[in-house]
Amino acid sequence: VFIAFEGGEGAGKTTQARLAAIWLRDHGYDVVTTHEPGATKIGMRLRAMLLDRDTTGLSDRAESLLYAADRADHVANVIRPAMDRGAIVVSDRYVDSSLAYQGFGRQQRVEDIARVNAWATGGLVPDLTVLLEIPPQAGLGRLSAPADRIESESQDFHERVRAGFHALAEADPDRYLILDASRPQNELSREIQYRIREILPD
Ligand code: C5P
Ligand code: MG
Repeated sequence: VFIAFEGGEGAGKTTQARLAAIWLRDHGYDVVTTHEPGATKIGMRLRAMLLDRDTTGLSDRAESLLYAADRADHVANVIRPAMDRGAIVVSDRYVDSSLAYQGFGRQQRVEDIARVNAWATGGLVPDLTVLLEIPPQAGLGRLSAPADRIESESQDFHERVRAGFHALAEADPDRYLILDASRPQNELSREIQYRIREILPD
């Protein structure tokens, strides 16, 4: 079982992914929590390159390929091995982040980003994707660390990302749970648990 958490900056993905993992472990499941970009050794170097504000002039295609390279390494070295031994994998971001940021955000063809990522991941698609929705202003306002290269993008960029995530989720209601991230944390985690229960093996 593979569960991904998606959404813009400051939506609470990390918190909700952690709460879901704790709940699953309490129920006796073997759970691996992970994140993108930067969950592997090479991934950490790619993450630094991608998010460093000193990285200037990176082309949109190269950016897309670097995120895809991080993801390929993540699937091969973390996600697949965990799934193969029967663990539940909970990831903070996955392919939809690239469709939203590199596709909608950078205004590249979303089908191209999807194709590159299908190859990078060997076609691995989550069983459930939880989308935490928050208006960009509110989400960016929640961040404590100084903004990284992507967070520093324009308001318009972040609006396109938000709208992109929403369009992706609306198009596939069977796979997505869409939640308003401004709701209380415990309500959100309860709804997430409820939905996860439906996809668990007995
Ligand atoms: O979730 P986290 O903040 O750790 O992600 C790192 C950064 O990478 C975010 O600021 C996000 O905007 C950016 N990102 C991106 N494209 C992706 C995944 C993440 O621009 N495919
Ligand atoms: Mg961020």
